[in-house]
Amino acid sequence: MSDVYTLTDLRQWQAQPPAWAANERPILAVFGDPVAHSLSPQMMNPALEALEIPGRYIRLHIREDDFPEAIRLLPKLGFVGTNVTIPHKFNALRNVDEVDALAEKLGAVNTVVVEEDGHLLGFNSDGPGFLRCLREAFQVDAKDLRILILGAGGGAGRAVAIQCALEKCERLVLVNRTMEKVQTLAEELRPHFQDDHLLGPVERLEVCPWEAESLAHQLDHTDLIINGTSLGMKRSDPDLLPNGLLQPHHLVVDMVYKPARTKLLAAAEAAGARAINGLPMLLHQGIISLETWFNRPAPIDVMRSALQEAAGARG
Ligand code: NAP
Repeated sequence: MSDVYTLTDLRQWQAQPPAWAANERPILAVFGDPVAHSLSPQMMNPALEALEIPGRYIRLHIREDDFPEAIRLLPKLGFVGTNVTIPHKFNALRNVDEVDALAEKLGAVNTVVVEEDGHLLGFNSDGPGFLRCLREAFQVDAKDLRILILGAGGGAGRAVAIQCALEKCERLVLVNRTMEKVQTLAEELRPHFQDDHLLGPVERLEVCPWEAESLAHQLDHTDLIINGTSLGMKRSDPDLLPNGLLQPHHLVVDMVYKPARTKLLAAAEAAGARAINGLPMLLHQGIISLETWFNRPAPIDVMRSALQEAAGARG
């Protein structure tokens, strides 16, 4: 596992640049708090080696208040870019010089490019990464699906919900512990569902309370269930769905990837449904980030096997 660095390290590197060997110089990072659990370095460093790009991808443990200073140090230290994860995706949107149109629509930045003149450009690879993972795992497109998102008010769930609305999916149901968050989101997304599409027996865009009867009704009209909450990471977490609601026709994407076989995955398999964890989404957003930084194809097979090995090693 590679080391975790902090703002103090970045300041020191600026005051007195270390004599890095070419392959050791940090050129990419993931900003997070916490960040030690991130599997991105294990996926990105083998990719840099395969592309023969000298430099390393590191973890940066950055507190929310320190984000503006830390991100502005990257050009001075010769970084090519960075990923940003919890809790910085909204902060990144406000602290870069220019935001790409899709990231603006998704309301979050998870990939920052440092331009040669030091300008910072913000992108989002979570939404497109999700679409690619859906195609790869189930050979389906979001536009053809009736989709229910648990945790649609969180950073990742919200980005995926907006991406699905931009794809004009058949149907979108937003579920969240804090309902107000998804009520506001539904109002923002409503225009995407007001076209001449034939109306079915249920509304195309709905907010659903997190309770058994409402979920049971919605799941009868759902093809794809997405878990965008952080529930599932701990063995002690409660079940996401009441017993008996999962059906064999359901497709399930659990964005959680640690543990590899979450409770939701186990429940889906027991119900005869097809399900994947969050690892393929992590892979595809990483591929898109790498291609954004270097403008050339990423070594997909190298990244996939490095990620699988790292996830397996974690258990
Ligand atoms: P976040 O912004 O903190 O959102 C957390 C979400 O979980 C919110 O919807 C929150 O509901 C909900 N939640 C938390 N505790 C809950 C509980 N006890 N009961 C019900 N709902 C609860 O986090 P995030 O960045 O969106 O990340 C969410 C998950 O997705 C994490 O597990 C993360 O690792 C994963 N993720 C995976 C990928 C990937 O590539 N596979 C990418 C991004 C994120 P409230 O709104 O009510 O607080």
